[in-house]
Amino acid sequence: MRSQWIRPTVRQMDGYTPGEQPPQKEQYIKLNTNENPFPPSIHVLRAISQVPAEALRRYPDPTCAAFGKVAAKVHGVTPDMITCGNGSDDVLAYALGALAGPEQTLAFPDPTYSLYPVLAKLAEVKPCPVPWDEPWQLPTKQLLQSGAQTIFLANPNAPSGTLTPIDAIAELLRRFQGVVLVDEAYADFAGVDCVKLLKTHANLLICRTLSKGYSLAGLRFGYAIGAADLIAQINKARDSYPCDAIAQAAAVAALQDRAHARASWKYVAEERKRMAGELTKRHYRVIPSAANFLLVEPPSQKAAEIYQYLKSHKVLVRYFPQPGLDKMLRITIGVLEHNDILLQTLDNFLESA
Ligand SMILES: *Cc1c(COP(=O)(O)O)cnc(C)c1O
Repeated sequence: MRSQWIRPTVRQMDGYTPGEQPPQKEQYIKLNTNENPFPPSIHVLRAISQVPAEALRRYPDPTCAAFGKVAAKVHGVTPDMITCGNGSDDVLAYALGALAGPEQTLAFPDPTYSLYPVLAKLAEVKPCPVPWDEPWQLPTKQLLQSGAQTIFLANPNAPSGTLTPIDAIAELLRRFQGVVLVDEAYADFAGVDCVKLLKTHANLLICRTLSKGYSLAGLRFGYAIGAADLIAQINKARDSYPCDAIAQAAAVAALQDRAHARASWKYVAEERKRMAGELTKRHYRVIPSAANFLLVEPPSQKAAEIYQYLKSHKVLVRYFPQPGLDKMLRITIGVLEHNDILLQTLDNFLESA
């Protein structure tokens, strides 16, 4: 391969680094990629198994109309305010493609979801990370002064789990000229969201996923909610068949059985509280989280070592070897038994040291 074959932007950038996904037979306790610890609704599995051959022979519904109808009902909006994608990563990519281009800037509080700068670079958009005001407070003034065309805000944020109050988001929407995309991948676990702001702020775009709250990371289904005219423009930038027939059938069934998902949100919130307490007892600094994970700082400052120790004992957590995060670990909330194994392994690490 010659390096000239590759577009300069792509040649010079690092791709996104996803969390490890070891083969299932290796039997890790996986607390590293914020998956829901419970299986999806039985109605989802039934919907998948009942997809007729004819639905596979034909192209799927390009508009994902059945899903749009159910999602509109869930969120109290109209179906023309919904657009779908192959995971919310896909929605984020095509939304950005519609919102910003070369010579323009995408601002986002930093640290946040590390996919944002990758998506920006691919779209020839300049990424502008704006440090959070201490501690993890929305840097409204600096975001406004960044000269950005578009702002991405993960709420709750990843990897901190911190929640920006809805009032602060409303203020940003009021003062910012461009579109603010609020990535609500973890909103289900927070119990609050920005949906009601859609009534008053035409420059709000909300991104959702079934990966976390609905235990469907393997399905790849995400969607956005926004004003109908904004969604119509964004749809021009998406794939003509963004979601396959199986995913559409499963996604409809998932939203129709929210009670199943809701039980997992409640469980995770309770375990999150318990784990925060257990880790605090062990002198970890625990960042207050509204998501299904905790960002914690071990007292020993040995995050990298603890990560390796846990991994060698078949417990996976996430370690980010980058300034600002390299003294910390991000731990997904699992089922009680798995969380207890994590705590036990952390205690064993201390004794082994
Ligand atoms: C997990 C995650 C997503 C991606 O969700 P998919 O729908 O699985 O692509 C988006 N944003 C944030 C902040 C996430 O953590």
